[in-house]
Amino acid sequence: MAKDIVCGMEVMDGSICIYYEDKLYCFCTEACRGAFLRDPSKYIEEHDRKVD
Ligand SMILES: [Zn+2]
Repeated sequence: MAKDIVCGMEVMDGSICIYYEDKLYCFCTEACRGAFLRDPSKYIEEHDRKVD
């Protein structure tokens, strides 16, 4: 399981995933992937701020 860092949903492996700066990010929809690609640093920062 991976987490869509745009909307916070759990996404299945094998869904829409891309490598960005050597890390794999997965998204529930093309819309979330598009939002990430428009402003990746916004989502990566928010993700890093949370401690799981
Ligand atoms: Zn999403």
